[in-house]
Amino acid sequence: MKNLNRLFAIAKSNLDSIGIEYGDIVGIVVNTRAKSRWGQCKIVNGTQRNEWFDQEFEINISNRILDDNIDDDKVISVIIHEILHTCYGCMNHGRKWKELADLVNDCYSCYRIETTQSCSYFGLNAKEERAKYSTYKIQCGNCHNEFYRNRLFNTNTCFCGKCKKQNWQIYKNDNNGNYRPYKSIYKFSF
Ligand SMILES: [Zn+2]
Ligand SMILES: [Zn+2]
Repeated sequence: MKNLNRLFAIAKSNLDSIGIEYGDIVGIVVNTRAKSRWGQCKIVNGTQRNEWFDQEFEINISNRILDDNIDDDKVISVIIHEILHTCYGCMNHGRKWKELADLVNDCYSCYRIETTQSCSYFGLNAKEERAKYSTYKIQCGNCHNEFYRNRLFNTNTCFCGKCKKQNWQIYKNDNNGNYRPYKSIYKFSF
């Protein structure tokens, strides 16, 4: 697994070199629970209403992209994405955040700072990733059509797209890629 602190130090020094002033980042941690996001930036001390210089930030990065065979620069791109959220007025992907992202992209061709990043950017297979990291696996008990979701749709009103029956077997991810039976919904229909 990659050394996150080392990549974080590179990211910060690259931003320092081009004069980007980021906030007070008090922690950078590995997130083993993140399902759909690669990284996240949170205010851990202070609130959005506080003065910027009173805020403290924590960044977490998904362990899904910390595998050694993923390109360091791509992970640093995610770290920079999150560090930019700590800059003044940049908590969302608004104009200020985008300006800084463009600046980084212009100065460093090795990075690609985008609002979202697909699995393929990291050389990951989207289908496999979904099967490993979704919150729910939903299976039709009738025709065995199965798919993955991070949120549960309303299984009381939803019918299987393939067989039109309502016989759902729902499994929940134990956060280790094992899906355990969660609930089943069966409605008799003619
Ligand atoms: Zn973001
Ligand atoms: Zn079905």
